[in-house]
Amino acid sequence: MDVVGTDGKAPADSTPTPGPAGTPSGGGTPTVDNAEKWTQIQSSLSGHPHGTWAVSTVAALGTTVMVNSTAPGSFFAPSENKIHLNSSLTAATAASVFVHEAFHAWSSRTKHTADIQSLSRSDYVTAMVNEETTAVVNQISLVTEQGTTSAPGDVPSAAMYKAYTDAWKKAHDEATGDEAAKKAAGDEAGRKVVNGWFYDGTFVTSTTNQPYADYYGQSWDGVHKPPAGGS
Ligand SMILES: [Zn+2]
Repeated sequence: MDVVGTDGKAPADSTPTPGPAGTPSGGGTPTVDNAEKWTQIQSSLSGHPHGTWAVSTVAALGTTVMVNSTAPGSFFAPSENKIHLNSSLTAATAASVFVHEAFHAWSSRTKHTADIQSLSRSDYVTAMVNEETTAVVNQISLVTEQGTTSAPGDVPSAAMYKAYTDAWKKAHDEATGDEAAKKAAGDEAGRKVVNGWFYDGTFVTSTTNQPYADYYGQSWDGVHKPPAGGS
């Protein structure tokens, strides 16, 4: 699910380099509902590893991209295997959101997503927030690859980008070992910052405007505790 930022922290300098999550074989171009807008979206993604990962992954998964969706917010719908990008988004913002939703599509279609049936409520919420965290880290990586310091949809905002890159750089520079170890330390520190935004009220869902822990907790409740007398 797409996130809505509500923060106002401070600008950026260093360059984090977290890698894509892994690409299924295949690639190509996804099926879309509007070729013209998709072309605009794709121009924001091409030449950038996290952008091209998202495009080739979604194509390989057979996921349809609704670039002019009229459903509330933006999200991946597992039952339809469709990414909904809200029609109100500019192409540049939709590109950022697409990178986010592509990770949910990948997580769902490759069975990496949390199992709502088998996990406890708290483990399910934690796992889903971790998935959201990676989706946002990928959006931040796209910003880095684009050579800018914020995304047009403000995930990340300039303040978020600075908070991420500051944490990344500090951990990277303080870590011992080779460059791979230093990068891993940076990635972990940056990821921790992003994860915190899901718990401190910085992020709410674009579909229901709820904090994520509440949203996923209620989803779990809906599966495990059907309301008395419910249909
Ligand atoms: Zn999400």
